[in-house]
Amino acid sequence: MSKPVHLIVNPHSGHGGRRHALVDLRAAMRAAQVEMVEYTTKSAGDATRYAREIAEDARAVMVWGGDGTVNDVVNGMISSETPILPCRAGTENLLAKELRIPSDPRRIVETLLTSPTRYCDVGVVNGHNFMLIIGIGFDGEVVRRLSAVRTGHISYLSYFWPIWRTFWEHDFPKMRIIADGKEIFNDYGMAFVGNISRYAVGLRICRDAVFDDGLLDLVVFSCKKQTALVLHAAWTLLRRHPLKGDVIYKQFRNLQIECDRPVSCQVDGDVGPDTPLDVSMAKGKIKLIMPEPRPSPWAIWPWKGNGRHD
Ligand SMILES: [Mg+2]
Repeated sequence: MSKPVHLIVNPHSGHGGRRHALVDLRAAMRAAQVEMVEYTTKSAGDATRYAREIAEDARAVMVWGGDGTVNDVVNGMISSETPILPCRAGTENLLAKELRIPSDPRRIVETLLTSPTRYCDVGVVNGHNFMLIIGIGFDGEVVRRLSAVRTGHISYLSYFWPIWRTFWEHDFPKMRIIADGKEIFNDYGMAFVGNISRYAVGLRICRDAVFDDGLLDLVVFSCKKQTALVLHAAWTLLRRHPLKGDVIYKQFRNLQIECDRPVSCQVDGDVGPDTPLDVSMAKGKIKLIMPEPRPSPWAIWPWKGNGRHD
């Protein structure tokens, strides 16, 4: 007897429209005669426990939630041969966008049934796995402030006041960064480590990151004042920030970051550990379902890509 597909639903993610899409997804699964077991999460960490329990009894695990829910599921399925299909149900869904998972329910089912699987790297920060990106300093402070006032579903608007207040009040820490055993930065600033190229609101901070090359991408913005931050943001919007003299862009396997005080860090959009941080890479630890990459119309842009940039 074939194994069922499990669908893990976070009821707090996404807006009204996506809840209609969930109804359509159930109908599309029935129409395709795919046996599906649906599980609704009740609290943080629930998805990890459930995914761990069913990992070996599932044909595939679909995730209906934001990037935080995907992170929870990944943490329960490290080294499992059962593939994961993240659906676009939350505010950002950076991983689903990076993998070009469609948002239409019928096409999600088509992807589930016909698309190939690929092994994907997982980043590890102080023993916690991440799939997307971690931010140390300014970014971590914004997420920490948002988390302190968050109730239920968040939208882009939820970030406005945490970003505004952090912008004016943030005191840039002095960071010492050691990549693959060599000190590469010892100054004031903020840092990002990415497994994928996408960051919130369409920014590509780790613009060259590829999720299966066995390396993580580090971006360090040297920054002591708010005016420098505005300039960094403008260059990042243009995806030209690695060309700036006061930006470091480097790929690595192991990284240590220590600061002149404990500094906030965000991990896949949620509050992470404070510095000091130890970051490493676990190659090919998770299996994902994704459509075949299409040639990008942006391939003329002068940086190497993974065929998944748009
Ligand atoms: Mg990589």
